[in-house]
Amino acid sequence: MSLAPVSKRWLVLAAALLLPACTTTGTPPGAAVARSPQAGEGIVSAADPRAAAAGVEILRKGGSATDAAIATMLVLNVVEPQNSGIGGGLFFVRTDRSGALTTVDGRETAPAAATPEWFLAPDGKPLPSRELQTGARSAGVPGALAAMASAHKRFGKLPWADLFAPAIRLANDGFTVSARMHNGLKLYGRHVTGWARQTYFPDGAQPVATGSTIRVPLFAQTLQRIAREGAAPFYRGGSAARIAGALSGAEQRPSPMTAQDIGSYRARDRQPICATYRVYRICGMGPPSSGGITVLMILKQLERFDMAGLGRNSPVAWHLLAESERLAYADRDMYLGDPDFVQVPVPGLLDPAYLASRSALIGEGQSLASIEPGKPKGAPERKRVAFKDDPGTTHLSAADAAGEVVTVTTTINGYFGSGIAVDGYMLNNELPDFDATPAKDGYLVANRVEGGKRPRSSMAPTIVYGPDGKVRLAIGAAGGSTIICQIAKALIGVLDWNMSAQDAIAMGLVFAPGSKGGVIEEGTELVAMLPQLQALGETLKVAPLGLKANAIEYVDGRWVGAADPRSEGVAMDTGGHVTVIKRRVNELNGAHE
Ligand code: GLU
Repeated sequence: MSLAPVSKRWLVLAAALLLPACTTTGTPPGAAVARSPQAGEGIVSAADPRAAAAGVEILRKGGSATDAAIATMLVLNVVEPQNSGIGGGLFFVRTDRSGALTTVDGRETAPAAATPEWFLAPDGKPLPSRELQTGARSAGVPGALAAMASAHKRFGKLPWADLFAPAIRLANDGFTVSARMHNGLKLYGRHVTGWARQTYFPDGAQPVATGSTIRVPLFAQTLQRIAREGAAPFYRGGSAARIAGALSGAEQRPSPMTAQDIGSYRARDRQPICATYRVYRICGMGPPSSGGITVLMILKQLERFDMAGLGRNSPVAWHLLAESERLAYADRDMYLGDPDFVQVPVPGLLDPAYLASRSALIGEGQSLASIEPGKPKGAPERKRVAFKDDPGTTHLSAADAAGEVVTVTTTINGYFGSGIAVDGYMLNNELPDFDATPAKDGYLVANRVEGGKRPRSSMAPTIVYGPDGKVRLAIGAAGGSTIICQIAKALIGVLDWNMSAQDAIAMGLVFAPGSKGGVIEEGTELVAMLPQLQALGETLKVAPLGLKANAIEYVDGRWVGAADPRSEGVAMDTGGHVTVIKRRVNELNGAHE
């Protein structure tokens, strides 16, 4: 059976969006590169320097890591509108000094009227990817704001309105268009409509230029309203009517989403998913994300191998990682979905005996001919019946001086989401994260579309505790189904290969989600290993991957930030220290400032 094929569109987009210089970020306006961070200071790592600066501004005002994360997300909505925003969803993972963990699910939901045939053409076949990925029927009910409000209510220190100030300022005064935003518009912005088209394509044809300044006053007004009135009115009255109206009034394939669908949205606290890997406790997001559980399965299946002894230059180590990825993705594709709708056998999938049996399939000397899902305890009875990821997304991590650590992955899914703009923000296109085909091999699939259900995600905001019980690392990534492999690879880099989070993120990736094959990231040190990997039976091809991870790690009594050199990301701390990433992905030995 074919499992999670690598989307061609994803690979092409990845290539196009790699920044020319690839790795240089500037110093954010107003940020002094002054001195090394001091112990106990706060830090924010985000995909855009202006967003990280907003988070630090909030920390300096006495805000918590939760406050900083919310302010950072709101600024990302302004300056990186292609990737995330209040029209989308998020997963929020938070811990404090006591080690208590909270995970909030702000994933989008399908409208109540959605059925398993949502993405099928009249002939019963899935719609072409382009149609499926854009337009009104790709949008789910947005969950990001509800999740932010739920987190703020419990963990915020500053007033809600204060968190909006940096984003409102940028939206009103204007911000500089990044190369990534310009390229995204040029290559993948054709589907944006209405307000977004007028704003991002002012002459109707050419996208706003890199380095030009644009203002988004309509979005500033929306932010001002939410700052003043809270998140609740977003989900009712005029705001909900405008979302439903934009979707039901769309020219092609209008959506039956109603104001009631929007009004009944609730962010949900979920049970965190944790396991011990060697001496570390690793925790992340549970279903409907497949991220946390699949990362842990990959690691646990590798635990019996001497990954540290093999080291990062060993083709055998990368082969083992690829095999473990394939096995874990087979189970992910079979069993993971919204736990409110399908029975997800979480304890069975993480059961040590089950993982040992899966791990026993991995051989050091030869790639498995084919991979099938396993049968963990609690696997639901499969229902016999008669009758795939896109780029976008952004990740951020923040820590405050009181020991609170927050790590959030937030998304509108594809670039500029559904392309439909309401009140100055983009509505997501998250629903194609459901399986378009409701049945496979004659059985219903767990991740089929259903009314009110949340599509399975790969997003994997993760917190790692050291043997002393203190947070060692908070990490996450964007990049569709590559997210899981990015996190597993970075964790092996830090925990087994003793790398800094920065080097582990920068290191190349082997992405092997299917039963065979996979991708070695082009332009990285791993490409030189291809002949040895082929000798181990690996049929990997070399291709670009559009990856984007961020992390913060606690080393020698201080926070150190890490941002992906493939992106414009940056980490800043409250002492004014900025991590400026200067290396290319395959230059792992150079220093960063
Ligand atoms: N929608 C994807 C997910 O939730 C993330 C999209 C991306 O990172 O590109 O898994």
